[in-house]
Amino acid sequence: MSFQVFGLPVSRGVAIGRAVLVASSRVDVAHYFIDEERVEAEVMRLRSARDAVASELSTLQRELPAEAPAELSALLDVHLMLLHDETLTGATKHWIHERHYNAEWALSAQLEVLARQFDEMEDEYLRERKADLEQVVERLLRAMARGPASSFAPAPGGRPRDFAGEDPLVLVANDIAPADMLQFKRSVFTGFITDVGGKTSHTAIVARSMDIPAVVGAREASRIIRQDDWIVIDGDAGIVIVDPSPIVLEEYRFRQRQSDLGRERLSRLRHTPAVTLDGERVELLANIEMPGDAIAALEAGAVGVGLFRSEFLFMNRQGELPGEDEQFEAYRAAVEAMNGLPVTIRTVDIGADKPLDRMSANELRHEHALNPALGLRAIRWSLSEPGMFRQQLRAILRASAFGKVRLLIPMVAHLSEARLTLETLTRARQQLIEAGKAFTDIEVGAMIEVPASALTLPAFLRYFDFVSIGTNDLIQYTLAIDRADEAVAHLYDPWHPAVLGLLARVIAQARAAGKHVSVCGEMAGDPEFTELLLAMGLRSLSMHPSRIASIKERVLRTDARRWAQQLERILAADEPEAECRRAAQLLLSGRADSSQNEQ
Ligand code: PEP
Ligand code: MG
Repeated sequence: MSFQVFGLPVSRGVAIGRAVLVASSRVDVAHYFIDEERVEAEVMRLRSARDAVASELSTLQRELPAEAPAELSALLDVHLMLLHDETLTGATKHWIHERHYNAEWALSAQLEVLARQFDEMEDEYLRERKADLEQVVERLLRAMARGPASSFAPAPGGRPRDFAGEDPLVLVANDIAPADMLQFKRSVFTGFITDVGGKTSHTAIVARSMDIPAVVGAREASRIIRQDDWIVIDGDAGIVIVDPSPIVLEEYRFRQRQSDLGRERLSRLRHTPAVTLDGERVELLANIEMPGDAIAALEAGAVGVGLFRSEFLFMNRQGELPGEDEQFEAYRAAVEAMNGLPVTIRTVDIGADKPLDRMSANELRHEHALNPALGLRAIRWSLSEPGMFRQQLRAILRASAFGKVRLLIPMVAHLSEARLTLETLTRARQQLIEAGKAFTDIEVGAMIEVPASALTLPAFLRYFDFVSIGTNDLIQYTLAIDRADEAVAHLYDPWHPAVLGLLARVIAQARAAGKHVSVCGEMAGDPEFTELLLAMGLRSLSMHPSRIASIKERVLRTDARRWAQQLERILAADEPEAECRRAAQLLLSGRADSSQNEQ
Protein backbone atom coordinates (compact mmCIF):
# COMPACT_ATOMS: atom_id res chain seq x y z
CA MET A 1 0.00 0.00 0.00
CA SER A 2 1.30 3.39 -0.96
CA PHE A 3 2.14 5.92 1.75
CA GLN A 4 4.18 9.08 2.19
CA VAL A 5 6.91 10.13 4.58
CA PHE A 6 7.73 13.80 5.05
CA GLY A 7 11.16 15.25 5.65
CA LEU A 8 13.37 18.18 4.71
CA PRO A 9 14.34 18.70 1.10
CA VAL A 10 18.12 18.98 0.83
CA SER A 11 18.86 18.19 -2.76
CA ARG A 12 16.50 18.87 -5.61
CA GLY A 13 15.06 16.61 -8.26
CA VAL A 14 13.23 13.32 -8.41
CA ALA A 15 14.72 9.89 -7.74
CA ILE A 16 12.84 6.67 -8.34
CA GLY A 17 14.28 3.38 -7.20
CA ARG A 18 14.28 0.47 -4.84
CA ALA A 19 15.07 1.04 -1.17
CA VAL A 20 18.37 -0.18 0.19
CA LEU A 21 18.27 -0.02 3.98
CA VAL A 22 21.64 0.48 5.53
CA ALA A 23 22.31 0.46 9.26
CA SER A 24 24.21 3.59 10.26
CA SER A 25 27.01 1.45 11.64
CA ARG A 26 27.39 -0.35 8.36
CA VAL A 27 27.52 2.37 5.79
CA ASP A 28 31.20 1.68 5.27
CA VAL A 29 30.36 -1.65 3.65
CA ALA A 30 31.22 -1.48 -0.05
CA HIS A 31 28.24 -1.26 -2.40
CA TYR A 32 28.79 -2.24 -6.02
CA PHE A 33 27.26 -4.44 -8.68
CA ILE A 34 28.85 -7.55 -10.09
CA ASP A 35 28.41 -8.99 -13.59
CA GLU A 36 26.47 -12.20 -14.21
CA GLU A 37 29.62 -14.26 -14.79
CA ARG A 38 31.00 -13.16 -11.41
CA VAL A 39 27.95 -14.32 -9.44
CA GLU A 40 29.27 -17.78 -8.55
CA ALA A 41 32.66 -16.41 -7.49
CA GLU A 42 30.92 -13.90 -5.24
CA VAL A 43 28.80 -16.66 -3.68
CA MET A 44 32.05 -18.55 -3.09
CA ARG A 45 33.49 -15.56 -1.20
CA LEU A 46 30.46 -15.68 1.04
CA ARG A 47 30.75 -19.44 1.49
CA SER A 48 34.47 -19.23 2.34
CA ALA A 49 33.74 -16.50 4.88
CA ARG A 50 31.02 -18.65 6.44
CA ASP A 51 33.41 -21.65 6.67
CA ALA A 52 36.12 -19.46 8.17
CA VAL A 53 33.75 -18.07 10.80
CA ALA A 54 32.40 -21.56 11.56
CA SER A 55 35.89 -22.84 12.25
CA GLU A 56 36.70 -19.67 14.25
CA LEU A 57 33.65 -20.21 16.46
CA SER A 58 34.28 -23.96 16.87
CA THR A 59 37.89 -23.29 17.86
CA LEU A 60 36.74 -20.71 20.37
CA GLN A 61 34.28 -23.16 21.82
CA ARG A 62 36.82 -25.99 22.00
CA GLU A 63 39.36 -23.79 23.71
CA LEU A 64 37.05 -22.30 26.29
CA PRO A 65 38.70 -22.66 29.70
CA ALA A 66 36.99 -25.05 32.09
CA GLU A 67 36.08 -22.21 34.44
CA ALA A 68 34.28 -20.23 31.69
CA PRO A 69 30.58 -19.72 32.40
CA ALA A 70 28.31 -22.21 30.67
CA GLU A 71 26.43 -19.31 29.05
CA LEU A 72 29.46 -18.54 26.94
CA SER A 73 29.45 -21.93 25.29
CA ALA A 74 25.69 -21.71 24.80
CA LEU A 75 26.16 -18.30 23.18
CA LEU A 76 28.68 -19.67 20.73
CA ASP A 77 26.17 -22.41 19.92
CA VAL A 78 23.61 -19.75 19.10
CA HIS A 79 26.11 -17.97 16.88
CA LEU A 80 26.94 -21.19 15.05
CA MET A 81 23.27 -21.90 14.59
CA LEU A 82 22.61 -18.41 13.21
CA LEU A 83 25.59 -18.75 10.91
CA HIS A 84 24.21 -21.91 9.31
CA ASP A 85 20.63 -20.72 9.22
CA GLU A 86 19.24 -20.57 5.70
CA THR A 87 17.62 -17.20 6.39
CA LEU A 88 21.03 -15.64 6.73
CA THR A 89 23.52 -17.12 4.30
CA GLY A 90 20.94 -18.79 2.05
CA ALA A 91 18.89 -15.65 1.61
CA THR A 92 22.03 -13.56 1.20
CA LYS A 93 22.76 -15.56 -1.94
CA HIS A 94 19.44 -14.36 -3.29
CA TRP A 95 20.69 -10.75 -3.27
CA ILE A 96 23.82 -11.81 -5.11
CA HIS A 97 21.99 -13.93 -7.69
CA GLU A 98 18.97 -11.76 -8.28
CA ARG A 99 20.30 -8.29 -7.66
CA HIS A 100 23.98 -8.72 -8.45
CA TYR A 101 25.02 -7.07 -5.18
CA ASN A 102 28.58 -7.74 -4.03
CA ALA A 103 28.75 -10.23 -1.15
CA GLU A 104 29.24 -7.67 1.66
CA TRP A 105 26.33 -5.58 0.46
CA ALA A 106 24.13 -8.66 0.03
CA LEU A 107 24.93 -9.75 3.57
CA SER A 108 24.11 -6.38 5.11
CA ALA A 109 20.92 -6.17 3.03
CA GLN A 110 19.79 -9.50 4.46
CA LEU A 111 20.80 -8.45 7.96
CA GLU A 112 18.47 -5.46 7.66
CA VAL A 113 15.58 -7.75 6.66
CA LEU A 114 16.21 -10.11 9.57
CA ALA A 115 16.86 -7.36 12.10
CA ARG A 116 13.42 -6.00 11.40
CA GLN A 117 11.87 -9.42 11.95
CA PHE A 118 13.66 -9.69 15.27
CA ASP A 119 12.45 -6.21 16.28
CA GLU A 120 8.88 -7.29 15.72
CA MET A 121 9.10 -10.44 17.87
CA GLU A 122 6.90 -10.64 20.95
CA ASP A 123 9.29 -12.77 22.94
CA GLU A 124 11.95 -10.64 24.61
CA TYR A 125 14.55 -13.41 24.62
CA LEU A 126 14.18 -13.91 20.88
CA ARG A 127 14.13 -10.16 20.25
CA GLU A 128 17.46 -9.85 21.98
CA ARG A 129 19.00 -12.40 19.62
CA LYS A 130 19.28 -9.56 17.10
CA ALA A 131 22.52 -8.52 18.76
CA ASP A 132 23.89 -12.04 18.23
CA LEU A 133 22.93 -11.93 14.61
CA GLU A 134 24.74 -8.61 14.22
CA GLN A 135 27.85 -10.07 15.79
CA VAL A 136 27.79 -13.02 13.41
CA VAL A 137 27.44 -10.68 10.44
CA GLU A 138 30.30 -8.58 11.77
CA ARG A 139 32.48 -11.71 11.88
CA LEU A 140 31.46 -12.62 8.33
CA LEU A 141 32.29 -9.14 7.06
CA ARG A 142 35.66 -9.28 8.77
CA ALA A 143 36.36 -12.71 7.30
CA MET A 144 35.52 -11.37 3.85
CA ALA A 145 37.82 -8.41 4.35
CA ARG A 146 40.64 -10.86 5.22
CA GLY A 147 39.93 -13.11 2.25
CA PRO A 148 40.62 -12.37 -1.43
CA ALA A 149 39.00 -9.16 -2.59
CA SER A 150 36.34 -9.36 -5.24
CA SER A 151 37.97 -8.76 -8.58
CA PHE A 152 34.97 -6.57 -9.32
CA ALA A 153 35.49 -4.21 -6.43
CA PRO A 154 36.03 -0.70 -7.76
CA ALA A 155 39.58 0.61 -7.52
CA PRO A 156 40.01 3.24 -4.79
CA GLY A 157 38.62 6.46 -6.18
CA GLY A 158 36.99 4.63 -9.08
CA ARG A 159 33.29 4.40 -9.75
CA PRO A 160 31.57 1.19 -8.76
CA ARG A 161 30.06 -0.87 -11.53
CA ASP A 162 26.66 0.34 -12.45
CA PHE A 163 25.44 -1.47 -15.48
CA ALA A 164 22.28 -1.10 -17.50
CA GLY A 165 19.38 -3.32 -16.60
CA GLU A 166 19.65 -2.92 -12.83
CA ASP A 167 16.90 -1.13 -10.97
CA PRO A 168 18.01 2.25 -9.66
CA LEU A 169 18.61 2.26 -5.90
CA VAL A 170 17.80 4.68 -3.14
CA LEU A 171 19.68 4.56 0.15
CA VAL A 172 17.65 4.70 3.36
CA ALA A 173 19.40 5.06 6.73
CA ASN A 174 18.68 6.36 10.18
CA ASP A 175 21.70 8.65 10.03
CA ILE A 176 24.91 8.92 8.08
CA ALA A 177 28.05 10.62 9.32
CA PRO A 178 29.39 13.31 6.94
CA ALA A 179 32.53 11.32 6.19
CA ASP A 180 30.50 8.23 5.35
CA MET A 181 28.31 10.28 3.09
CA LEU A 182 31.45 11.27 1.28
CA GLN A 183 32.16 7.67 0.38
CA PHE A 184 28.80 7.49 -1.35
CA LYS A 185 30.00 10.14 -3.78
CA ARG A 186 31.16 7.25 -5.89
CA SER A 187 28.26 4.95 -5.41
CA VAL A 188 25.38 3.27 -7.13
CA PHE A 189 22.68 5.22 -5.31
CA THR A 190 20.43 7.67 -7.11
CA GLY A 191 18.89 9.18 -3.98
CA PHE A 192 19.20 9.37 -0.19
CA ILE A 193 16.81 9.38 2.73
CA THR A 194 17.80 9.73 6.39
CA ASP A 195 15.64 9.85 9.51
CA VAL A 196 17.60 12.63 11.17
CA GLY A 197 19.53 15.76 10.22
CA GLY A 198 18.84 19.37 9.36
CA LYS A 199 18.99 21.06 5.98
CA THR A 200 22.49 22.44 6.48
CA SER A 201 23.92 19.55 8.49
CA HIS A 202 27.17 18.43 6.92
CA THR A 203 25.59 15.14 5.92
CA ALA A 204 23.02 17.12 3.94
CA ILE A 205 25.73 19.35 2.48
CA VAL A 206 27.66 16.38 1.15
CA ALA A 207 24.43 14.84 -0.21
CA ARG A 208 23.71 18.09 -2.01
CA SER A 209 27.20 18.17 -3.47
CA MET A 210 26.45 14.81 -5.09
CA ASP A 211 23.62 16.47 -6.97
CA ILE A 212 21.16 13.67 -6.43
CA PRO A 213 17.76 14.02 -4.76
CA ALA A 214 17.87 13.67 -1.00
CA VAL A 215 15.54 14.08 1.96
CA VAL A 216 16.75 14.26 5.58
CA GLY A 217 14.87 14.47 8.86
CA ALA A 218 12.31 11.96 7.56
CA ARG A 219 11.91 10.70 11.15
CA GLU A 220 10.63 7.11 10.91
CA ALA A 221 11.65 6.45 7.30
CA SER A 222 14.24 3.77 7.98
CA ARG A 223 11.83 1.96 10.28
CA ILE A 224 8.77 1.91 8.05
CA ILE A 225 10.39 1.53 4.64
CA ARG A 226 11.30 -2.07 3.87
CA GLN A 227 14.26 -3.44 2.00
CA ASP A 228 13.49 -3.39 -1.72
CA ASP A 229 10.34 -1.20 -1.53
CA TRP A 230 9.84 1.03 -4.54
CA ILE A 231 10.45 4.64 -3.57
CA VAL A 232 9.99 8.05 -5.11
CA ILE A 233 12.03 10.88 -3.60
CA ASP A 234 10.62 14.28 -4.31
CA GLY A 235 13.72 16.29 -3.44
CA ASP A 236 12.00 19.62 -4.09
CA ALA A 237 9.19 19.08 -1.60
CA GLY A 238 10.99 16.79 0.87
CA ILE A 239 8.46 13.99 0.34
CA VAL A 240 9.15 10.30 0.09
CA ILE A 241 6.47 8.16 -1.55
CA VAL A 242 6.69 4.49 -0.74
CA ASP A 243 5.20 1.94 -3.13
CA PRO A 244 3.73 4.60 -5.46
CA SER A 245 0.68 3.87 -7.63
CA PRO A 246 1.24 3.65 -11.42
CA ILE A 247 -0.34 7.10 -11.91
CA VAL A 248 1.90 8.76 -9.31
CA LEU A 249 4.91 6.97 -10.74
CA GLU A 250 4.09 8.20 -14.24
CA GLU A 251 3.75 11.77 -12.99
CA TYR A 252 7.12 11.62 -11.29
CA ARG A 253 8.78 10.02 -14.30
CA PHE A 254 7.48 12.97 -16.31
CA ARG A 255 8.93 15.41 -13.78
CA GLN A 256 12.20 13.53 -13.84
CA ARG A 257 12.43 13.95 -17.61
CA GLN A 258 11.58 17.64 -17.30
CA SER A 259 14.26 18.16 -14.72
CA ASP A 260 16.84 16.33 -16.90
CA LEU A 261 15.93 18.65 -19.76
CA GLY A 262 16.27 21.65 -17.44
CA ARG A 263 19.75 20.55 -16.40
CA GLU A 264 20.79 20.08 -20.00
CA ARG A 265 19.59 23.57 -20.83
CA LEU A 266 21.46 25.05 -17.87
CA SER A 267 24.67 23.22 -18.68
CA ARG A 268 24.90 25.33 -21.82
CA LEU A 269 25.63 28.33 -19.61
CA ARG A 270 28.90 26.77 -18.50
CA HIS A 271 31.16 29.10 -20.44
CA THR A 272 28.95 32.19 -20.17
CA PRO A 273 30.41 34.77 -17.79
CA ALA A 274 28.13 35.61 -14.86
CA VAL A 275 27.24 39.25 -15.48
CA THR A 276 24.08 41.00 -14.28
CA LEU A 277 21.75 42.90 -16.60
CA ASP A 278 23.38 46.14 -15.48
CA GLY A 279 26.84 44.84 -16.28
CA GLU A 280 28.10 43.79 -12.83
CA ARG A 281 30.48 40.85 -13.03
CA VAL A 282 29.82 38.17 -10.41
CA GLU A 283 32.37 35.56 -9.34
CA LEU A 284 30.86 32.06 -9.00
CA LEU A 285 33.18 29.74 -7.09
CA ALA A 286 32.94 26.12 -6.01
CA ASN A 287 32.79 24.46 -2.59
CA ILE A 288 34.69 21.17 -2.55
CA GLU A 289 35.36 18.43 0.00
CA MET A 290 38.08 16.43 -1.73
CA PRO A 291 40.74 17.34 -4.31
CA GLY A 292 38.96 15.16 -6.89
CA ASP A 293 35.94 17.48 -6.70
CA ALA A 294 37.97 20.13 -8.49
CA ILE A 295 37.12 18.39 -11.76
CA ALA A 296 33.40 18.84 -11.16
CA ALA A 297 34.08 22.46 -10.23
CA LEU A 298 35.80 23.15 -13.54
CA GLU A 299 33.18 21.27 -15.50
CA ALA A 300 30.48 23.37 -13.89
CA GLY A 301 32.25 26.56 -14.97
CA ALA A 302 33.51 27.66 -11.53
CA VAL A 303 36.13 30.41 -11.72
CA GLY A 304 37.90 29.04 -8.67
CA VAL A 305 37.38 27.20 -5.40
CA GLY A 306 35.87 29.43 -2.75
CA LEU A 307 35.87 26.79 -0.02
CA PHE A 308 37.89 23.57 0.22
CA ARG A 309 36.60 21.90 3.40
CA SER A 310 39.93 20.35 4.34
CA GLU A 311 38.51 18.53 7.38
CA PHE A 312 37.25 15.73 5.17
CA LEU A 313 40.89 14.69 4.73
CA PHE A 314 41.07 14.26 8.51
CA MET A 315 38.04 12.06 9.10
CA ASN A 316 37.70 8.33 9.69
CA ARG A 317 41.38 7.67 10.17
CA GLN A 318 41.13 5.95 13.53
CA GLY A 319 42.97 8.72 15.29
CA GLU A 320 45.84 8.96 12.84
CA LEU A 321 45.78 12.38 11.21
CA PRO A 322 47.17 13.05 7.74
CA GLY A 323 50.78 14.22 7.90
CA GLU A 324 52.21 17.31 6.21
CA ASP A 325 53.25 15.52 3.02
CA GLU A 326 49.95 13.74 2.60
CA GLN A 327 48.06 16.99 3.05
CA PHE A 328 50.41 18.84 0.74
CA GLU A 329 49.77 16.26 -2.01
CA ALA A 330 46.00 16.67 -1.59
CA TYR A 331 46.14 20.48 -1.71
CA ARG A 332 48.55 20.43 -4.60
CA ALA A 333 46.26 18.08 -6.52
CA ALA A 334 43.35 20.51 -6.11
CA VAL A 335 45.50 23.53 -7.00
CA GLU A 336 46.95 21.89 -10.09
CA ALA A 337 43.54 20.64 -11.20
CA MET A 338 42.22 24.20 -11.04
CA ASN A 339 44.88 25.25 -13.47
CA GLY A 340 45.78 28.71 -12.24
CA LEU A 341 42.34 29.54 -10.83
CA PRO A 342 42.30 30.43 -7.13
CA VAL A 343 41.79 27.70 -4.52
CA THR A 344 40.66 28.81 -1.07
CA ILE A 345 41.71 26.19 1.45
CA ARG A 346 39.97 26.37 4.79
CA THR A 347 41.95 25.05 7.72
CA VAL A 348 40.41 22.08 9.44
CA ASP A 349 36.90 22.61 10.80
CA ILE A 350 36.62 19.54 12.99
CA GLY A 351 34.03 19.35 15.76
CA ALA A 352 30.28 19.98 15.99
CA ASP A 353 28.63 17.64 13.47
CA LYS A 354 31.99 16.70 11.91
CA PRO A 355 33.78 14.52 14.45
CA LEU A 356 37.11 12.94 13.57
CA ASP A 357 35.82 9.43 14.00
CA ARG A 358 32.85 7.81 12.35
CA MET A 359 30.02 9.27 14.36
CA SER A 360 26.96 11.12 13.22
CA ALA A 361 25.80 14.34 14.88
CA ASN A 362 22.97 12.44 16.48
CA GLU A 363 25.23 9.80 18.01
CA LEU A 364 27.54 12.56 19.22
CA ARG A 365 24.73 14.37 20.97
CA HIS A 366 23.48 11.24 22.63
CA GLU A 367 26.87 9.92 23.62
CA HIS A 368 28.30 13.08 25.01
CA ALA A 369 25.11 14.84 26.06
CA LEU A 370 26.52 18.26 25.35
CA ASN A 371 26.35 20.73 22.56
CA PRO A 372 29.36 20.17 20.33
CA ALA A 373 28.47 23.14 18.11
CA LEU A 374 29.53 25.43 20.95
CA GLY A 375 32.58 23.42 21.85
CA LEU A 376 36.12 22.90 20.66
CA ARG A 377 35.65 23.14 16.92
CA ALA A 378 37.28 24.80 13.92
CA ILE A 379 39.99 27.39 14.77
CA ARG A 380 39.51 26.68 18.48
CA TRP A 381 40.56 23.08 17.90
CA SER A 382 43.43 24.06 15.60
CA LEU A 383 44.83 26.52 18.14
CA SER A 384 44.60 23.91 20.86
CA GLU A 385 46.78 21.59 18.73
CA PRO A 386 49.56 23.95 17.60
CA GLY A 387 51.77 21.19 16.17
CA MET A 388 48.97 19.87 14.01
CA PHE A 389 47.99 23.40 13.01
CA ARG A 390 51.50 24.36 11.89
CA GLN A 391 51.70 21.13 9.94
CA GLN A 392 48.52 22.00 8.05
CA LEU A 393 49.67 25.57 7.44
CA ARG A 394 52.99 24.33 6.06
CA ALA A 395 51.18 21.92 3.74
CA ILE A 396 48.91 24.71 2.47
CA LEU A 397 51.81 27.12 2.03
CA ARG A 398 53.78 24.52 0.05
CA ALA A 399 50.80 24.03 -2.29
CA SER A 400 50.99 27.76 -3.07
CA ALA A 401 54.11 27.08 -5.13
CA PHE A 402 51.86 25.28 -7.64
CA GLY A 403 49.08 27.81 -8.20
CA LYS A 404 46.96 30.49 -6.58
CA VAL A 405 46.18 29.53 -2.98
CA ARG A 406 44.16 31.46 -0.41
CA LEU A 407 43.99 30.49 3.23
CA LEU A 408 40.69 30.64 5.08
CA ILE A 409 40.24 30.43 8.86
CA PRO A 410 36.93 29.04 10.16
CA MET A 411 34.84 30.35 13.02
CA VAL A 412 36.97 33.23 14.19
CA ALA A 413 35.25 35.02 17.08
CA HIS A 414 38.05 36.64 19.07
CA LEU A 415 40.78 38.99 17.90
CA SER A 416 43.20 36.91 19.95
CA GLU A 417 42.41 33.99 17.64
CA ALA A 418 43.26 36.16 14.66
CA ARG A 419 46.56 37.20 16.23
CA LEU A 420 47.51 33.66 17.27
CA THR A 421 46.65 32.31 13.83
CA LEU A 422 48.85 34.87 12.10
CA GLU A 423 51.69 34.18 14.53
CA THR A 424 51.40 30.46 13.86
CA LEU A 425 51.45 31.18 10.14
CA THR A 426 54.62 33.24 10.51
CA ARG A 427 56.23 30.36 12.39
CA ALA A 428 55.13 27.88 9.72
CA ARG A 429 56.69 30.12 7.04
CA GLN A 430 59.96 30.27 8.99
CA GLN A 431 60.01 26.50 9.31
CA LEU A 432 59.59 26.13 5.56
CA ILE A 433 62.37 28.62 4.87
CA GLU A 434 64.66 26.71 7.24
CA ALA A 435 63.74 23.46 5.50
CA GLY A 436 64.36 25.05 2.08
CA LYS A 437 60.81 24.37 0.90
CA ALA A 438 59.16 26.64 -1.68
CA PHE A 439 56.02 28.68 -1.12
CA THR A 440 54.61 32.03 -2.19
CA ASP A 441 52.72 34.84 -0.52
CA ILE A 442 49.13 33.94 0.15
CA GLU A 443 46.13 35.96 1.18
CA VAL A 444 44.59 35.08 4.53
CA GLY A 445 40.86 35.34 5.09
CA ALA A 446 38.43 34.84 7.95
CA MET A 447 35.15 33.04 7.86
CA ILE A 448 32.51 35.27 9.33
CA GLU A 449 30.11 32.77 10.81
CA VAL A 450 29.52 33.80 14.40
CA PRO A 451 27.62 36.97 15.27
CA ALA A 452 30.57 38.17 17.39
CA SER A 453 32.86 38.64 14.39
CA ALA A 454 30.02 39.89 12.19
CA LEU A 455 29.20 42.62 14.72
CA THR A 456 32.81 43.71 15.17
CA LEU A 457 33.97 43.20 11.60
CA PRO A 458 36.15 46.35 11.21
CA ALA A 459 38.48 45.08 13.91
CA PHE A 460 38.87 41.72 12.12
CA LEU A 461 39.41 43.43 8.78
CA ARG A 462 42.64 44.88 10.18
CA TYR A 463 44.04 41.35 10.39
CA PHE A 464 42.63 39.66 7.30
CA ASP A 465 42.91 40.22 3.55
CA PHE A 466 39.40 38.95 2.77
CA VAL A 467 36.31 37.51 4.42
CA SER A 468 33.95 34.72 3.51
CA ILE A 469 30.56 34.56 5.17
CA GLY A 470 29.56 31.12 6.40
CA THR A 471 25.80 31.54 6.48
CA ASN A 472 25.18 27.98 7.66
CA ASP A 473 26.83 28.68 10.98
CA LEU A 474 25.91 32.35 11.08
CA ILE A 475 22.24 31.31 11.04
CA GLN A 476 22.86 28.55 13.58
CA TYR A 477 24.57 30.87 16.04
CA THR A 478 22.36 33.92 15.46
CA LEU A 479 19.13 32.02 15.96
CA ALA A 480 20.47 29.46 18.47
CA ILE A 481 19.27 26.62 16.27
CA ASP A 482 21.36 23.46 15.98
CA ARG A 483 21.72 23.11 12.22
CA ALA A 484 21.94 19.32 12.47
CA ASP A 485 18.82 18.83 14.58
CA GLU A 486 15.66 18.07 12.62
CA ALA A 487 13.54 18.80 15.71
CA VAL A 488 14.24 22.53 15.37
CA ALA A 489 14.75 22.58 11.62
CA HIS A 490 11.53 24.55 11.11
CA LEU A 491 13.10 27.42 13.08
CA TYR A 492 16.30 27.46 11.04
CA ASP A 493 15.38 30.51 9.00
CA PRO A 494 17.79 32.24 6.60
CA TRP A 495 15.09 34.89 6.04
CA HIS A 496 15.14 36.00 9.67
CA PRO A 497 15.65 39.81 9.73
CA ALA A 498 18.54 39.38 12.20
CA VAL A 499 20.38 37.10 9.78
CA LEU A 500 19.78 39.34 6.77
CA GLY A 501 20.77 42.40 8.77
CA LEU A 502 24.10 40.82 9.73
CA LEU A 503 24.76 39.73 6.18
CA ALA A 504 24.06 43.15 4.70
CA ARG A 505 26.23 44.79 7.32
CA VAL A 506 29.22 42.49 6.79
CA ILE A 507 29.05 42.84 3.00
CA ALA A 508 28.79 46.64 3.18
CA GLN A 509 31.59 47.05 5.74
CA ALA A 510 33.97 44.71 3.92
CA ARG A 511 33.35 46.51 0.63
CA ALA A 512 33.81 49.89 2.27
CA ALA A 513 37.17 48.71 3.61
CA GLY A 514 38.16 47.52 0.13
CA LYS A 515 38.29 43.87 1.24
CA HIS A 516 37.07 40.99 -0.90
CA VAL A 517 33.89 39.46 0.51
CA SER A 518 32.19 36.24 -0.48
CA VAL A 519 29.38 34.03 0.81
CA CYS A 520 30.20 30.33 0.95
CA GLY A 521 27.27 28.96 3.00
CA GLU A 522 24.31 27.19 1.44
CA MET A 523 22.51 30.49 0.82
CA ALA A 524 24.99 31.20 -1.96
CA GLY A 525 23.71 28.20 -3.93
CA ASP A 526 20.04 28.88 -3.32
CA PRO A 527 18.52 30.92 -6.17
CA GLU A 528 15.90 32.32 -3.81
CA PHE A 529 18.57 34.56 -2.32
CA THR A 530 20.58 35.50 -5.40
CA GLU A 531 18.90 38.85 -6.12
CA LEU A 532 18.95 39.85 -2.46
CA LEU A 533 22.65 39.04 -2.07
CA LEU A 534 23.42 41.00 -5.22
CA ALA A 535 21.33 43.87 -3.87
CA MET A 536 23.51 43.84 -0.75
CA GLY A 537 26.53 44.40 -2.99
CA LEU A 538 27.86 40.85 -2.96
CA ARG A 539 29.80 39.96 -6.09
CA SER A 540 31.32 36.62 -5.10
CA LEU A 541 29.43 33.44 -4.23
CA SER A 542 30.78 29.98 -3.51
CA MET A 543 28.60 26.87 -3.76
CA HIS A 544 28.46 23.22 -4.78
CA PRO A 545 29.48 22.86 -8.39
CA SER A 546 26.03 21.47 -9.19
CA ARG A 547 24.41 24.77 -8.15
CA ILE A 548 26.55 27.07 -10.29
CA ALA A 549 24.46 26.90 -13.48
CA SER A 550 21.17 27.73 -11.72
CA ILE A 551 22.72 30.64 -9.86
CA LYS A 552 24.34 31.92 -13.02
CA GLU A 553 20.97 31.87 -14.74
CA ARG A 554 19.60 34.06 -11.92
CA VAL A 555 22.55 36.43 -12.06
CA LEU A 556 22.08 36.89 -15.80
CA ARG A 557 18.44 37.89 -15.23
CA THR A 558 19.09 40.30 -12.35
CA ASP A 559 19.42 44.05 -12.46
CA ALA A 560 21.57 44.54 -9.36
CA ARG A 561 21.16 48.32 -9.33
CA ARG A 562 17.37 48.20 -9.32
CA TRP A 563 17.39 45.44 -6.71
CA ALA A 564 19.67 47.55 -4.52
CA GLN A 565 16.92 50.19 -4.45
CA GLN A 566 14.63 47.62 -2.81
CA LEU A 567 17.13 46.55 -0.17
CA GLU A 568 16.31 48.96 2.61
CA ARG A 569 12.63 48.08 2.51
CA ILE A 570 13.32 44.32 2.53
CA LEU A 571 15.71 44.60 5.46
CA ALA A 572 13.26 46.70 7.45
CA ALA A 573 10.34 44.33 6.88
CA ASP A 574 8.98 41.99 9.53
CA GLU A 575 8.60 39.40 6.80
CA PRO A 576 11.57 39.94 4.48
CA GLU A 577 10.71 36.90 2.38
CA ALA A 578 7.28 38.30 1.46
CA GLU A 579 8.80 41.74 0.86
CA CYS A 580 11.41 40.20 -1.40
CA ARG A 581 8.70 38.48 -3.45
CA ARG A 582 6.85 41.77 -3.71
CA ALA A 583 10.01 43.48 -4.92
CA ALA A 584 10.52 40.76 -7.53
CA GLN A 585 7.00 41.31 -8.83
CA LEU A 586 7.46 45.07 -8.92
CA LEU A 587 10.70 44.74 -10.84
CA LEU A 588 9.14 42.27 -13.22
CA SER A 589 6.29 44.62 -13.98
CA GLY A 590 8.75 47.48 -14.40
CA ARG A 591 7.11 49.58 -11.70
CA ALA A 592 9.89 49.43 -9.16
CA ASP A 593 11.50 52.79 -9.85
CA SER A 594 8.16 54.65 -9.78
CA SER A 595 6.92 52.86 -6.64
CA GLN A 596 10.22 53.77 -5.00
CA ASN A 597 9.44 57.40 -5.72
CA GLU A 598 6.01 57.08 -4.15
CA GLN A 599 7.54 56.22 -0.76
C1 PEP B 1 29.13 27.80 6.82
O1 PEP B 1 29.09 27.68 8.04
O2 PEP B 1 28.29 28.46 6.17
C2 PEP B 1 30.18 27.14 6.03
C3 PEP B 1 30.33 27.37 4.76
O3 PEP B 1 30.98 26.24 6.67
P1 PEP B 1 30.47 24.79 7.12
O4 PEP B 1 29.13 24.56 6.46
O5 PEP B 1 31.48 23.80 6.66
O6 PEP B 1 30.38 24.90 8.58
MG1 MG C 1 30.78 26.90 9.10
